This record gives sequence, structure tokens and C-alpha cells, in this order.
Amino acid sequence: MNVMDIFETMEYGPAPEAASTVQSWLQEHQQFRLFIGNRWVEPASGKYMESTNPATNKALVQVASANSDDVDAAVSAARKAFKTWSKTPDHVRARYLYALARTIQKHARFLSVLESLDNGKSIRETRDIDIPLVARHFYYHAGWAQLMGRELSGYEPLGVVGQIIPWNFPLLMLAWKIAPAIAMGNTVVLKPARYTPLTALKFAEIIQEAGLPAGVINIVTGEASQVGDALVKHPDVNKIAFTGSTDVGRSIRRATAGSGKKLSLELGGKSPFIVFDDADLDSVVEGVVDAIWFNQGQVCCAGSRLLVQENIAERLFSKLRARMEKLRLGDPLDKAIDIGAIVSPAQLQEITRLVAQGEAEGAEKWQPSWACPTEGSFFPPTLFTNVTPASTIAQIEIFGPVLVAMTFRTPAEAVELANNTRYGLAASIWSENINLALDIAPKVKAGSVWINCTNVFDASSGFGGYRESGFGREGGKEGLYEYIRPAWSGSKSVSKARQPQVASEEREESTLSEVNPPAIDRTPKLFIGGKQARPDSGYSLRVIGANGSLIGEVGEGNRKDIRNAVEAAHAASKWASGTTHNRAQILYYIAENMAAREDEFARRIAQQTGCGHVEAVKEVQASLSRLFSYAAWADKFEGTIHRPPMRGVVLAMHEQIGVIGMACPDEYPLLGFVSLVAPAIAMGNTVVVIPSPKAPLSATDCYQIFETSDVPAGVINIVTGERDALSKVLAEHDDVEACWYFGSEEGSRMVEHASAGNMKRTWVNYGAQRDWLSPLQGEGEEFLRASIQVKNIWVPYGE
Ligand code: NDP
Repeated sequence: MNVMDIFETMEYGPAPEAASTVQSWLQEHQQFRLFIGNRWVEPASGKYMESTNPATNKALVQVASANSDDVDAAVSAARKAFKTWSKTPDHVRARYLYALARTIQKHARFLSVLESLDNGKSIRETRDIDIPLVARHFYYHAGWAQLMGRELSGYEPLGVVGQIIPWNFPLLMLAWKIAPAIAMGNTVVLKPARYTPLTALKFAEIIQEAGLPAGVINIVTGEASQVGDALVKHPDVNKIAFTGSTDVGRSIRRATAGSGKKLSLELGGKSPFIVFDDADLDSVVEGVVDAIWFNQGQVCCAGSRLLVQENIAERLFSKLRARMEKLRLGDPLDKAIDIGAIVSPAQLQEITRLVAQGEAEGAEKWQPSWACPTEGSFFPPTLFTNVTPASTIAQIEIFGPVLVAMTFRTPAEAVELANNTRYGLAASIWSENINLALDIAPKVKAGSVWINCTNVFDASSGFGGYRESGFGREGGKEGLYEYIRPAWSGSKSVSKARQPQVASEEREESTLSEVNPPAIDRTPKLFIGGKQARPDSGYSLRVIGANGSLIGEVGEGNRKDIRNAVEAAHAASKWASGTTHNRAQILYYIAENMAAREDEFARRIAQQTGCGHVEAVKEVQASLSRLFSYAAWADKFEGTIHRPPMRGVVLAMHEQIGVIGMACPDEYPLLGFVSLVAPAIAMGNTVVVIPSPKAPLSATDCYQIFETSDVPAGVINIVTGERDALSKVLAEHDDVEACWYFGSEEGSRMVEHASAGNMKRTWVNYGAQRDWLSPLQGEGEEFLRASIQVKNIWVPYGE
């Protein structure tokens, strides 16, 4: 083509990025070994596997295929390094992270080219998005390493962290995982995805160049069934951080249940892209390009469901088709390419299958007239209209360049459609009316909400999902908590739990005065939807006091009662939209009414636990103080505002989780109950509570208090009965969003395992007791953070 031709057609000429430096590096290596303890070691199996270029489907190089022996070696190198790394001063760790960031920047172009070659994504994206964000992540976390002692005092690192990353943002996911982990003093064993190990191996060289101590970061390539599985099950790994598919996330949740390993999961999505009729449609079109054709749509937070207000739908679709016709697809190393290659033939086949299914189910498919290259794995940008909300392509994550469009008429309908998914990772809202956009943002169940923008990320703003998109956050201060724990929880003598005492005269006196006179029967029922409800079973359970005598009876709740309680808790969801001031007032009111009955509550505690009156009074007073603490926090544990490098702000909102099921500990019947319920409702959740089965009467005595303290019906629901049986129902219930369990080790395992169905958040004690009287162990941020999830709302500004 000569210059005249170009002027005639206005076609783009090729603008290839040179790959020779990277190609010679690959040739030098031929075979990559494992990176363990800062050395390159042969895999125990002696086996290697190929990494290919998706744009040609030709092999690039071979990488080691590790097995469980190699994982053992890597974990033990990381464990050894942990001893010194965890004690390395903050400033020194900060310097290492800073060195990594600088070294990444020095190799930025190299990494961009290598990432494009190995993954198939366009050089424009790797150069302008992936690699700059990688460096930013290390810089940002160098800052947190520096500030850890001051800003996170009372916390300590977890130990050895196993990290498993996917192929869609290979180096960026590595950075998201490694930077916070090592900043907080942990050491790491990382498994890259089998399709895209190469930038992780180049990063290993960067580790050497930056002089990081041996064993702090270990990189083990290999098959999921070997390396992934061994890492997840390894007894000396303290935490697993995973990004990938929801199905694998679910299997990891089950495999780690009861092991005590901390877990964060960043899983799939089917994110809505909501366009109101007052939106700037030309900006919307560019937004859609970034939402679903960025990285070939292989993005967990891709705006894959286009929800358009009906009256502008046809206009938007025709603008979109015109834009799609002009998208350029081809060689990822061409700088003028919009869409690169699909990561593998298997992924291409899966996209093709789902698109065929969409057509078979009656949706209308539209693709541009131009053809894809025949060599390599390519799929054209695709738009589906006439899609029904329940169809496969509207529900399943396609993970390809396929947009599925539906229409709505009212804002309420938009929210309903947006939330009609099992996922909750991200959402985009497009409207020139900021009031409308900010009204919709809290109603959409998603961890990130982008207003008039999409797919923007920054290290300062946490990222992570609601619902089956997983739990835990990456980035921001909230992401750090995934890699630390309260220092007291690591010490051997955690518990100062109260042991029942031998009956004292004082206690016998008080129990006798209750049991002897022929009292009017006060058998408490269950407390559901603000009313006392008879248990479905029609059975009661005897409550035996510490001195062995019968001190009362409570209803024996069952599956049906839990179901009713969950329904009542959902019906009370308006609690979250009330003011925080109102929630604080109600908590103070509960305290006021409880204080009026202090003596009665103390006697009940003494009766059930066998403690002396003085100690029982102490427990009531601690409960009152706790109610005051959470009344205080109700309007103070708030989110924050981030200033990422863009014109705009990110509102990091603390949102309630929803319905939390909770099983209370035996040690402190009233204080344990109050310590769990108060933070949860202070943050806007509604709760279904199983009181201590041994000592349920302190909780059931609260019924009248709740009734007279303006607690709206359904905010607190109480089902007495067998802790583990009822907890299992809660953990399996698809409409319960989180499950807290304070009971046995076996019960903890059961709750974690059973919760995998809808990937609910869990908080369990693995049978360990805590000192509920201590403000350090019994209240505070740990409880508040378990009661919220952070939603980041991105609000750009300017014309
Ligand atoms: P996977 O979830 O299978 O893989 C993600 C990572 O987990 C990879 O490193 C993989 O290793 C590893 N892995 C797989 N199975 C296990 C296991 N049982 N135990 C431990 N580690 C395991 O995703 P795929 O690559 O198979 O992609 C399938 C689908 O997942 C995509 O079509 C997409 O829908 C979704 N996905 C979502 C991502 C996200 O960011 N949320 C990212 C990637 C995929 P290996 O590569 O060796 O198999």
C-alpha cells in the first residue's frame, strides 16, 4: 500500500511494536524452572509444559510443571523467610516494595510486550493500563508497609500466603496479590495461571534485581490439579487468596473449611451497564467499548449486560453497531488494534458455544461485517438484542467480547434487572442526572459502581464482590485486612473464658427464690418478625442451671423457624436505609431498658453459668457498655473518599451485608449475644440469632426489651435450639448473606463448608474462646468490619 492508497481509503497502516528483545529473552531461556528461595530449581517431576501465543497458537517457551513436592519446598522456603521478613522494620519493607515498583517501571515496555505475547491482549492495553497499574500497586503498598506500625498497630501478619491467579490480567493480578501480602509482612507462594506464566517469571528476575530476601516470594508454575490443589490443602499455609471462576472458588471454600486458613475470593461477574435516557449516548458508546471489548471481554467486572431505557434503545443500538463496525481486531502487538486474541482455543470454544446457545434461545445476534484473522484464537465483538432476563446468555458469565442487551422502563425496573444475577462484582450507571445516578448506586448490589465511566481501577480503591462474586477486597486500606489479624488472636493464651463455678450460697439463694414459688409460666417462644412465635416443632428444650436444676424451658427451633426468621429479616431490610442516628438512638434505648432490669439480668446469668452475683453484674454492665459503644459507632464507622489519579473522587461506602445469621458463644450468655447483635444492627444489617443453647435465657429475656425499645419488627430474630443443627440451616440458606459462628471446632468447619453454596461470608471461631469482657477481644473494628462490605462508587467530574 502506498501513500496515495492510504489517502484514498483512510485505512490504518500496520503499527507493530518491536518484540525482538522479548523474543531473544525467551530464546535464551527456552525452559523456565521454578523460582523458590530466590533460586531457579528443576521441578521434582522433571516435567515442563508449553506456554503459547494466542495470536498464533504457536509455542513461545516451556515452563516447569511442578507437583506437590515443589509446593512443599516453596512453602518451606516461605516459612523460613517469614521468620525474618515479618520482623523486618516497616521502613525496610517499604524500601523493598519501592525497589520493586521502580524496577517494574524500568522494564515496563518489556513487560507490556511479553504480556501481549503470552495473553493475546493488545499492546495498547498492556502498555497503558496493565503495567502502569502494576507499578502503582507496588508504590501504593510501599506506603502501607511504611505506615503499618502506626496505622495498623495491634495487628500482625498471617504467615505464609498461597496465591492463585488467573490468566486475564496475569501481572496485574500478581501485583494485586503480592504487594499487600508482603507489605504486611507475609511471605508468598504464587501460582500463575497455566496459560500465562511468563510475566510472573520475568517478575522473578525483577525480585532478584531488586534484591528481595530469599523466600519472601516464590513462584511455582504448573497444573491446577497439582500446584493449585497442593497449595490449597497445604497445612503450613495460613491464607489462600484466589481470583478465578466461581466454581473453583466454591471448591476452594469447601477444601479450606475448618482448616483455619484465611480466605479471600475474587470470582466471576455479570455486571450491569445501565443507561438512562438522559445519558450522553456518544460517551455511552465509548463506555461500552471499554466495558465489554476491553481485554476481549475477558474481565471479571466486564459490563456484559447492557440495560437500556426503552425509549432510547434503538438509537443506542444503531450507534453501537456503527462503532463496532469500526473496531479493529488483530495482532495484539499492533499499536492500532482495539481487540486482541482470546487467551486459548478452549476459551474460544466456550465463547462460541455460549453464543450459539444464545441464538438457539431466540436472541438476535449482530456482528460486524469484517472477518477475524484465521490464524490464532479470535472472536468478533458481538451484540445480542431481544434477550430475555432468564436466558443463558443473560445469566452465565461468557468471558468473551459478547454484549447482551435488555431494556427497562423505570429506574426501579433497572435496579431489579441489574440485581437479577447471582453475582455482584461491579456496575456502571450512565445518566447526566447525578441525583438519579447516586440514588441508583447504593441500590445495585455490587462492590464497585462506576458512574459515567467503567473499568477504572486504582490501588487506593478496594475491589471485590458481593454475593457469588466472592468476598474480601483487594486494594485500599480494606484490602490490607485480608493479610493481617489482631495480634492477640495469634497468642497461645487467647481465652480468659469463664469456667462455671461450684455453687455458692449466694447463687443458690438467688436460684431458689426463682424456682421455689409456684411461678407463672414464662416459657419464652421464638422471636420472629417482632412477635413471639411458637416453634414449628411444638417441642420445648429444658434449660438446666449451673447447679443442675431446671431453670426454664425454651422453644426448640427447626429449619422452618429459621426460614421464617430469614424471611422476616429480609422484610425488615428498610433498616439499612434509615439514618445512622436513628440506629444509634435505638441501641441507646435498648441499653436504657436493659439497665432498668440490671439485677434481673444478673441473676439470670448467675443461674445459668454458676458465676457469682458480682461477676454477673459485671457481665450486664459490660453488655450495657457494649451497646453504648455500637450506638457511638453507628454514625462514626463510616467510609472514606479516595482521590485516585483521575479527575474525580471515589466514595468508599460502608454498606450493610444484609441478613446475618449468628450463633452465640456459651461463655457469656448475655455479653456474647449483645457483642454479636449490636455491631451487626448498628451497621444496618438484620439478624437471625441462635442464642447459646446452654444458656439461652439471657437472650430470650431481651424480647420485651426489643419490643419496648423501638426495634423494628424483623431486625432482630431469635431462634432457640441446637446450635449446630440451626447453624447448618443458616449456612445453607441462599438468602442469608453472612454466617457468624461461635461454637465448636467441628461446627466451624461445618459452617464454612456449608456456606459455599451462595459463597456467603463466614466468621467462625474454630472452637477457640475469646475474652468477651475485654474490649480488645470483645468489641471494635473486627466486629464492625465483619458487619459491612465496602462499595466503591467512582464519580468522575469535569466536562
Ligand atoms: P479457573 O478458575 O479454573 O482458574 C483460575 C486459577 O485457578 C488458575 O491459576 C487455575 O490454574 C487455578 N485453579 C483451577 N482449578 C483449581 C483448583 N481446583 N484448585 C486450585 N487452583 C485451581 O479459571 P479458568 O482459567 O479455567 O477460566 C474458566 C472461567 O473462569 C472463565 O471462562 C471465566 O468465566 C472465569 N474466570 C474468571 C476470572 C476472574 O477474574 N474472576 C479469571 C479467569 C477466569 P490453571 O490455570 O493451571 O488451570
